[in-house]
Amino acid sequence: MLLTFEQAKKNILEAASINYHPLTKKVALFDALDRVTAEPIISPINVPSFNNSAMDGYAVRLSDINQSKLLPLAGSIFAGDDISNLNWPIGTCLRIMTGAPVPDEADAVIMQEQTEQSKSGINFLHEIKIGSNIRYIGEDAKQGAIVVTKGTRLTIPTLSSLATLGIAEITVFDKLKVAIFSTGNELSDIGNPLINNSAIYDSNRFTLKLLLTKLNCQIIDLGIIEDDPNKIKQTLEAASKLADLVITSGGVSVGDADYTKTALEELGQIKFWKIAIKPGKPFAFGKIGDALFCGLPGNPVSTLVTFYQLVQPLILTLTGQNLLASDLSFKVKTATNLKKSVGRLDFQRGVLQVNSDGELEVVSTGQQGSHLTQSFNQANCFIILEQERGNIAKGEFVTVELFNNLLK
Ligand code: AMP
Ligand code: MG
Repeated sequence: MLLTFEQAKKNILEAASINYHPLTKKVALFDALDRVTAEPIISPINVPSFNNSAMDGYAVRLSDINQSKLLPLAGSIFAGDDISNLNWPIGTCLRIMTGAPVPDEADAVIMQEQTEQSKSGINFLHEIKIGSNIRYIGEDAKQGAIVVTKGTRLTIPTLSSLATLGIAEITVFDKLKVAIFSTGNELSDIGNPLINNSAIYDSNRFTLKLLLTKLNCQIIDLGIIEDDPNKIKQTLEAASKLADLVITSGGVSVGDADYTKTALEELGQIKFWKIAIKPGKPFAFGKIGDALFCGLPGNPVSTLVTFYQLVQPLILTLTGQNLLASDLSFKVKTATNLKKSVGRLDFQRGVLQVNSDGELEVVSTGQQGSHLTQSFNQANCFIILEQERGNIAKGEFVTVELFNNLLK
């Protein structure tokens, strides 16, 4: 009996929360891109830390303006000026630049463009609103307030805002150690000549390295292992001692040289094998010693789809990241017929686009075979077709899930 995708994902996430014991470390703000916060970040200061001007213009008191729309100029304040000893006579205004400190007595800063200069002073042409063009203390971040929650992946905008708080170091979760290897007598390393005329390149291990790098993991690359049950067993055992998570590709199907699953059974525990999804039915999940194990199917498209849909949430959970609603999914009409057989959940690849009526629609990338990597090129989304659904005609609604950052 095949497991449904939802059951498989639930099992994986449960195992991840039991295995969750991430270490933390301090890193410099500059090195924190894509890392995950291990504790909430609290603002050490108010930002802005003083009231300041949002414009180049004039600081005024409302009481002065109510007396006269023409005020003589008493001086200038520049960004960076210390105004603790400022002398600002009643009945005058001050020239002030963007970012310069606004005196406490000022009720507003008036844009230069809304004034006219004359020999006797500045003419204020428009109605004046209290507080206009003043950026108030703590308006962006309050001292002592949580500005980033625990479990947040740090992006450039977030790090940029932390820089405004003067934060130089952050406590993040340590990198997850992931051991990988490929199985298959047919595999040659990219960069080398193919070993014989039935050989292929080991593209999966290359892809896994890219995916794991993007997810900020520490990769232990154990290379290509031939289809030999003892060698696979030895490598699996060694991998489980080196890493928190072991990922293999190939050898988990029902062929006579598919030894990975048997080795897993002998060394550890299989939690499940085979899911009602397409591509990626033969996906093995289990545990060897303290390490979790994911055996990905060998076909390159299956490797990528199962990694994205199942290994990605596993790694996010193991590294303390909140599984946010970052995976945007919604229903749109398909502009092409879609071939689908009943019984498995399909993760077809598509292009979400805007048609000539300005409406969103999805088109298939064409042939969807799990060996056809071209089906992923140009795609920007998965077309997720429910298990019990059959062929789908042009114009029917389908669920589309936009690729997240991992595939971009
Ligand atoms: P397997 O799961 O080992 O039966 O492999 C299924 C298909 O994927 C076969 O056509 C393999 O040649 C191919 N394959 C297996 N491993 C890799 C790999 N590392 N890179 C590219 N293709 C692979
Ligand atoms: Mg194989």
